[in-house]
Amino acid sequence: MSERERRIGLNEAVFREVNEHVESLSQGTDALSIVCECGELSCTERLFVSPAKYEAVRAHAALFLVAPGHVAADVEDVVERSDGFEIVRKHEGEAQQIAEETDPRR
Ligand SMILES: [Zn+2]
Repeated sequence: MSERERRIGLNEAVFREVNEHVESLSQGTDALSIVCECGELSCTERLFVSPAKYEAVRAHAALFLVAPGHVAADVEDVVERSDGFEIVRKHEGEAQQIAEETDPRR
């Protein structure tokens, strides 16, 4: 795996951690304002998702929520396009392994 792929994987893991805190602070609301989980540290996009959708994504270590177009096509594929966000799945192999090792739900 390239240094770039590893960096993207670790950045996404950081944003996922941030969003876990957002969710815990937002109990009882019907839309979570989360940060884009793409691999760019400079990205400041906010996404609005329902708690149910967030939970469905977080149930899988390899899935991340990103802004439309914020897909690193060499390490992940879009599995769902929605209004205002896209859900990506890390490719099998090391990209997925990083996602699993850093999964805060494990
Ligand atoms: Zn982004």
